[in-house]
Amino acid sequence: MSTATGLDLLVIGGGLHGCATALFAAKHGMRVTVLEKDSVARHASGTNAGGVRRLWRNLKEVPLANRSMEMWKHIGDIVDDDCGFQQVPQIKVAENAQDLDLLRERADLMSSNGFDHERMIDQAELRDFLPAVNADCVGGLMSEDGFALPWQTTAAFARKARALGVNILSGIEAKHIYKDAQHWRVETSEGAFTSGALLNCAGAWAGGIAAQLGDPAPVEPVAPLMIVTQRMRPFCNAVVGTARRPLSFKQMENGTVVIGGARLGRVDTRQNRTDIDFAELTHTARTARDIFPVMRGAVIQRTWSGIEARTPDQLPVIGRSMRHKNAYHSFGFSAHGFQLGPATGSLLADFIATGKLAPEIAPFPIDRFASTDANTLEKVFAT
Ligand SMILES: Cc1cc2nc3c(=O)[nH]c(=O)nc-3n(C[C@H](O)[C@H](O)[C@H](O)COP(=O)(O)OP(=O)(O)OC[C@H]3O[C@@H](n4cnc5c(N)ncnc54)[C@H](O)[C@@H]3O)c2cc1C
Repeated sequence: MSTATGLDLLVIGGGLHGCATALFAAKHGMRVTVLEKDSVARHASGTNAGGVRRLWRNLKEVPLANRSMEMWKHIGDIVDDDCGFQQVPQIKVAENAQDLDLLRERADLMSSNGFDHERMIDQAELRDFLPAVNADCVGGLMSEDGFALPWQTTAAFARKARALGVNILSGIEAKHIYKDAQHWRVETSEGAFTSGALLNCAGAWAGGIAAQLGDPAPVEPVAPLMIVTQRMRPFCNAVVGTARRPLSFKQMENGTVVIGGARLGRVDTRQNRTDIDFAELTHTARTARDIFPVMRGAVIQRTWSGIEARTPDQLPVIGRSMRHKNAYHSFGFSAHGFQLGPATGSLLADFIATGKLAPEIAPFPIDRFASTDANTLEKVFAT
């Protein structure tokens, strides 16, 4: 492959964040290329649970999640594809009185910060939303959120970006990064690329790219576990979690039930490989069965996990490099970055193109990890 020159922006990583930022940068008239070492949506962006969730987000993420939600509601206008998006309630179920107290505390925290999208529901309302929920559950916290289809969504962002002139190249791995005067030179498995600006959207591999830029960050790869069942009669029209136990539970239109949560498998980023931890999956299945007794009759059809990037504070890194004016990062979404994709891409592209940093992405600078000790980083990069 010949060397590509004359680029305004070179994006490393063809997941949702790389493709979305490329799309919006192209709308600013930038000449953009995306390098993807495998294929678009091959990793977290194509394998996730599809939760478009604002409920229970870290306060720092709420304005960004709200902004993204407004975009999800019009996603077809943005990428010419409905992305399988459906607006349904997200509900955190309280299994007992202590859970209810915890959910009330959260509802109070949100309202005292001026956010009104999360509200308490009592036992009767919970049962109206979820007729099949365990009779012992005493209430919940809900917001009007939804879910979408991850692979379809990421592919739609890539397709729209291409239609706007973005060059998305699969099977090309960015290897060595050099700065030459004001330009970046990236040596890849298929030749070299030069560009005025560089964006690191490399997901679970982003720590290595950041380190090459002199911005070491303690991002680690993790492998969230997922289950999908055989088809069941319709019984749930919401995305359901619990107050204290990890769970993300939804029934798809075809009757299958997709179950995830914060349980993790094992990951080897060098081999692009994950392994299922069946003991962990048993906990997930047990929680699902406790919340919905009908799940006792469920048959697991398939399990999988994807490779995701997690930071110590479980917040993403979004913004400019500590050392270079023309390098940017967007990674470390810590298993909840799918919902954030549209707004992060749009606001980060605005920042790259105009230098104006929107308040929604300002809370996530990479320099919050500047004092991370060398031992921690060494452990992360040895993973
Ligand atoms: C099982 C699972 C369930 C999840 N559930 C949800 C959910 O319900 N809701 C939610 O909001 N979020 C969820 N997430 C999180 C969400 O999927 C991620 O936060 C988001 O997709 C991250 O997107 P990304 O573009 O940053 O990373 P990725 O999709 O991982 O993309 C990064 C890309 O960079 C490429 N790359 C890396 N290094 C290089 C290199 N040197 N050269 C070229 N390319 C490179 C990789 O091959 C990869 O394709 C879940 C994640 C998983 C794994």
